[in-house]
Amino acid sequence: MDTEYIKSQLVPHPDFPKKGIVFLDMFPLLRNPVAFETLITNFVHHLTAVTIAKSPNRKIDVVVGLDARGFLFGPIIALRLGAAFVPVRKQGKLPGKCHSASYEKEYGVDSFEMQADAIEPGQSVVVVDDLIATGGSAKAAGELVAKSGGKILEYLFIIELTFLKAAEKLDAPLYSIVQVD
Ligand code: IMP
Repeated sequence: MDTEYIKSQLVPHPDFPKKGIVFLDMFPLLRNPVAFETLITNFVHHLTAVTIAKSPNRKIDVVVGLDARGFLFGPIIALRLGAAFVPVRKQGKLPGKCHSASYEKEYGVDSFEMQADAIEPGQSVVVVDDLIATGGSAKAAGELVAKSGGKILEYLFIIELTFLKAAEKLDAPLYSIVQVD
């Protein structure tokens, strides 16, 4: 089963980046081309099914990837869909006029930015990242898309920490390949 194969490539690192946290590392998955291809195919099949269910003529216009691991597979999904790829970056990294949105981290607040002209009003958008924990960063990305007038179809992640109930914070459905409870 695809999901089990993808899950088998994720390596847990106890006490990283600090004591008490089990960090799930996706980089081993990228080292394995068969697993990487399986991951991309899973996302693309899922998104094709979602858009066809909504309307046969519906298209995803933009894939938004979150800093930094969303940059590693978001552009590949975008290319497969014939969509644009747009990065959401940590504050101060993008040139030109930007929208910004802040989110809570474990200690303090951080900000995300997106170039203001990257998404046109009414465009259909999906947001991707490697892992969703509290959902704070995904929610901030959703706010950036809303500021541009884009419509989020879905949020997609390789891994979801389901016990943190991030889905309740988001304004569109959440899809994850691997659930950790
Ligand atoms: P959230 O904003 O609390 O949902 O945290 C999600 C962000 O933290 C994402 O950008 C993830 O890349 C990162 N993150 C948190 N825990 C892990 C982990 O175990 N592995 C990889 N990334 C993680």
